[in-house]
Amino acid sequence: MADHPDKYNYSKALVPGPLTAELESKKTEKKRAQKVAKKTREKEQKEQRKRLEMEAEEKKRFASLSDREKRAQAAEKRLAEHQASTGGDLSNTRRCWQCGESLVGKVPFQYLDFSFCTPRCVQEHRKANVANRSRAGN
Ligand SMILES: [Zn+2]
Repeated sequence: MADHPDKYNYSKALVPGPLTAELESKKTEKKRAQKVAKKTREKEQKEQRKRLEMEAEEKKRFASLSDREKRAQAAEKRLAEHQASTGGDLSNTRRCWQCGESLVGKVPFQYLDFSFCTPRCVQEHRKANVANRSRAGN
């Protein structure tokens, strides 16, 4: 139609308008851009959905943990951060008052100002303290 404007009766043939190669390529270009944009949008929406699903799952999982498990998880995270910040230097980590076991990444058992790795260490320390005190009393 663009090349032969008078050759046919275009209005009678219901041809909508002249299509030049340029117009055509522009149309194709636009379609392609829209397709890419749509794909990008769909991908973003999919990722967003996935994030929300993961967040919901994490929420559920966290809520189902016991307090001790939650604390342990927080402690583990601190351990990872601690190791990342110190490059694994263990010289100034917190340690069990009784046996010297590192308390980093653990939920310490505490009484008074002391921290211990296990209830056993707590008991041993307590026993030793009681013994000390009774000796001092004598
Ligand atoms: Zn200990």
